[in-house]
Amino acid sequence: MKTLSGKSALITGSTSGIGLGIARALSDAGANVVLNGFGDVLAAKEFVGQAGGKVIYHGADLSHPDQIADLMRYAEKEFGSIDILVNNAGIQHLAPVEDFSTERWNSIIALNLSAGFHTTRLAVPSMKKKNWGRIVNIVSVHGLVASSHKSAYVAAKHGMIGLTKGVALELAQTGITCNAICPGWVLTPLVEQQITSKAAQQGISYAEAQSQLLLEKQPSGVFVTPEQIGALLLFLCSDAAAEVRGAAWNIDGGWIAQ
Ligand code: NAD
Repeated sequence: MKTLSGKSALITGSTSGIGLGIARALSDAGANVVLNGFGDVLAAKEFVGQAGGKVIYHGADLSHPDQIADLMRYAEKEFGSIDILVNNAGIQHLAPVEDFSTERWNSIIALNLSAGFHTTRLAVPSMKKKNWGRIVNIVSVHGLVASSHKSAYVAAKHGMIGLTKGVALELAQTGITCNAICPGWVLTPLVEQQITSKAAQQGISYAEAQSQLLLEKQPSGVFVTPEQIGALLLFLCSDAAAEVRGAAWNIDGGWIAQ
């Protein structure tokens, strides 16, 4: 069903992984979609645009606020407004806190936290004009609980949940909602890197490292999929979710139930 016909969506970091799956779900539901990210743009456009609305791309590096402003201007010029904003782009780096470089810290905070502030502040005025909007932040279980060696990531993701709640409250008497989705392990390039380095560090196979990584944290032992996250996001975009405000919704194979 084309429940989002006539709506426009911007999904940051949507050339691979979770963002790509979400872009496809939104496009399948009839939305026009703005893609962003550093992956294979042609393949992403082809995959996303198969069934749905118009698909365009902007290559902003979201660690730079001026490039974010350019992306937002481009999206509004092409589609008139951004009705659905999905803050998804994110990076990861693992190191003990005493070895965590300042440069890595700054780049993770810039992308995983500050970029979401900038896109939100720039998207809200046109959402307010229509009195309708959906802001969905793809956070992580690491917005709710911590793991070691991920200080910047955990700090940024906890910050995103705070931003989600604050924005949701400011907009509580409007038709604009702001919520967070908190996935557990999803098999994407971001996680494949972690499996590869775990296998190298421990001298075990990729398959063994993958199964250990899952079972250490995710009781189901099964990866969450981008399609499942896309389906949850479509629900948050629906009228049925109009009073879901400031939620941090985990989809994590039981990770934070422990
Ligand atoms: P991914 O590496 O597949 O995708 C990240 C996307 O962000 C890519 O399109 C990449 O090109 C883009 N990107 C990276 N740096 C960018 C920059 N400076 N400017 C613009 N785009 C940039 O990763 P993923 O696993 O799909 O992660 C997507 C989001 O989901 C991230 O915020 C991540 O923290 C979160 N998340 C992932 C998992 C998981 O298990 N994969 C779990 C919980 C949360």
